[in-house]
Amino acid sequence: MFYLLFLFLVPQCIIAQTNDTLRYKAFLFVSRPVPEAVKTRMQGKSMPQTATVSYDELRYLTVFHYDYEGTIRKGELVCNKAIAKDLLFIFRALFSRAYSINSIRLVDDFNADDEASMQANNTSCFNCRTVAHSKTLSKHAFGMAVDINPLQNPYIKGTHIQPKTATDFVDRTKDFPHKIDENDFCKEVFESYGFQWGGHWLSIKDYQHFEKRK
Ligand SMILES: [Zn+2]
Repeated sequence: MFYLLFLFLVPQCIIAQTNDTLRYKAFLFVSRPVPEAVKTRMQGKSMPQTATVSYDELRYLTVFHYDYEGTIRKGELVCNKAIAKDLLFIFRALFSRAYSINSIRLVDDFNADDEASMQANNTSCFNCRTVAHSKTLSKHAFGMAVDINPLQNPYIKGTHIQPKTATDFVDRTKDFPHKIDENDFCKEVFESYGFQWGGHWLSIKDYQHFEKRK
């Protein structure tokens, strides 16, 4: 009897995992090669002809998250395969703590327009683009950076703010929901997997931004 009870209970609480799938309760966090249908969405948008990475170097992730209303939603990300496993663990950890993420959709749903994606407060990873106001390729162009809840966590360089609609969230001495700061759980989890947080940079601040350097 005890053995049967054990068999019933253990799968509910042990987190099963394979190379490409992590489980949290009934929710699967999955990494797979970029499916053809997703490539079609990305082509000419986040993946232009001039892209410096190939689809073989990328992975398509499906993850679960709590939105700002507390509803569980399925999100999708494209990232470099070098960080795919890290991101599965990270997003599972955030989900297990019911950490709120407004939306996790591909930037292609915003025509790969980073400003539009940020104004929609969308969390995303891969986008073949340069750093704002420069010709340097962003870590996003390699799928090695993730932006989390960008509206409340803007990019700030002097008087320049991205997204433009984030003016209420520039003063980081203020307290407001979804602010990523030193004590934020999301920041702790990303750092525990070796990511750098843009909130620690000196010449600019990029509070939404976590990147991993190879
Ligand atoms: Zn970023």
